Amino acid sequence: MTPTTTRPVVELTGVSKTYGEVAALADADLTIMRGELLCIVGPSGSGKSTLLNIVGTLARPTAGTVRIDGHAVEELSDRELSALRAQSIGFVFQSFHLAPGVTALDSVADGLLYSGRSRGERRALAERALRRVGLGPRLYNEPHQLSGGEKQRVAIARAVLGDPPLLLADEPTGALDSASGAVVMELLHELHRAGTTVVVITHDRDIAGSLPRAVRLKDGRITPDSAAGAHANTSAYAPARTQREVGV
Ligand code: ADP
Ligand code: MG
Repeated sequence: MTPTTTRPVVELTGVSKTYGEVAALADADLTIMRGELLCIVGPSGSGKSTLLNIVGTLARPTAGTVRIDGHAVEELSDRELSALRAQSIGFVFQSFHLAPGVTALDSVADGLLYSGRSRGERRALAERALRRVGLGPRLYNEPHQLSGGEKQRVAIARAVLGDPPLLLADEPTGALDSASGAVVMELLHELHRAGTTVVVITHDRDIAGSLPRAVRLKDGRITPDSAAGAHANTSAYAPARTQREVGV
């Protein structure tokens, strides 16, 4: 048996995804080990979200094999896949997906609606997750009473509520000013230090440069990894000095 710490959490082999004529992802091989922190970078339309959605089992590939946390995704039914997702994967998106009029506490607690836990338990766990992301003083704020960065932190609290081993973030700082983006990135670093495997799509060169590994995509193809070794052990995130490359 391979020790848990060196086990891959993601293994893609020859994965392709086509939409009609468009090869969104072509023959992708990617292994992500437990405990990694990496980014996926590339121009708009290069297949980053497609790759992340396949890793997150939100999309099934047209060809190739996907193993997540040791499970061969193509062998799982939709129901088993939902269970794997619920147990193993947290998602964060550029737009925060918070329902208007719902407090931060309830937004996060609702992530446990189908967990079989009582309302009191759900709220207690949600409160703990919100405190973890530094939102203890904002439990009863509704989205319109939160800044963009705070909304994203609510979304992150919801994503990490069940302590998933894998956190996938699609441009989590894309809608934020650089100061709020830095706070969100620092939070992702903290989750990584606590043991979560974190994969983040970013357009921001400074963010990409601050992470230990970058997977680069171009026209649906993964180009050889760049390992920014100098940054591998740094936990500090330098706030963006240059503007984001391009809009999405
Ligand atoms: P990125 O996230 O890097 O901007 P995407 O993965 O969203 O790129 O898209 C890669 C390519 O696949 C693009 O050409 C896009 O238009 C196409 N694509 C993505 N999703 C779909 C879809 N659901 N239907 C049709 N084409 C899609
Ligand atoms: Mg995208």
